[in-house]
Amino acid sequence: MPDIGFVDGQFMPLSEARVSVEDRGYQFGDGVYEVIRTYGGIPFQVDAHLARLEQSAAAIKLLPPYRKHEWVGYVAEGLRLARYPESKVYIQITRGVAPRDHVFPPAARPTVVMTVREMQELSEDIRVGGVEAVTVEDLRWGRCDIKSLNLLPNILARQQAKEAGAFEAIFVREGEITEGAVSNVMIIHSGALVTSPSGPKILAGVTRQVVLDLASKEGVPIEERRVTEHEFRTADEIFLTGTTVEVLPVVRVNGTAVRRGVPGEVACLLARCFKRLVA
Ligand code: PLP
Repeated sequence: MPDIGFVDGQFMPLSEARVSVEDRGYQFGDGVYEVIRTYGGIPFQVDAHLARLEQSAAAIKLLPPYRKHEWVGYVAEGLRLARYPESKVYIQITRGVAPRDHVFPPAARPTVVMTVREMQELSEDIRVGGVEAVTVEDLRWGRCDIKSLNLLPNILARQQAKEAGAFEAIFVREGEITEGAVSNVMIIHSGALVTSPSGPKILAGVTRQVVLDLASKEGVPIEERRVTEHEFRTADEIFLTGTTVEVLPVVRVNGTAVRRGVPGEVACLLARCFKRLVA
């Protein structure tokens, strides 16, 4: 099978996967999700992703229908069926199918959807040369730690970035840099790696934690605290972390070069460490 779909325990070709128009994910965005990628065919940080899926589900009072070993089994089976060298696994849990009403349906069972597609790597040009970003007002809700299906502000921000010829939109909330539309943001300022603390303003990225651990091993001073817009504008380096971007230097923001407009030393060091780790 090529791209794989999974709906409520059944695997099928993705083109045949269907859910009801009355699914609350479709009607309300009432659900949560995860994205896991493989390296060497093995799902990366699967425990951390499944733990976050459970936390996101609990935060919206959704009881996940599977236990950890069952998720791991389904992911492995999806990868086995898809047979790609590297895959991207998307998992979504919604509050299920019920007549449209905001309050929780008393009888609905959660709907679980999974897709397995071939992982599309970023081009080497982008990795080596770095990317451009734009800043966008963070209009999201107060629980950005939940990986919820409600991504409209992220979609609008990323579209704004694309129309400006940039790769990522970086959110600014009341003078503070929070995170990217699809990534966490780290800066190097006054010799330290500074990044927003985990909490309700950001998604606690799995890659973020991996990169912080690598930085700590490399002896880079780390400050998990509020990043001001001023610090961001005067940073020596800016880089993004995430499942799809890995460690990605930002070389221009809103059309202005970050320092000399080339990837910074620490970003390159951490990108190399990350490559080594996943190799
Ligand atoms: N922040 C946001 C808003 C995201 O959507 C993502 C990834 O999709 C991340 C951060 C990075 O998280 P992770 O490293 O777990 O992929």
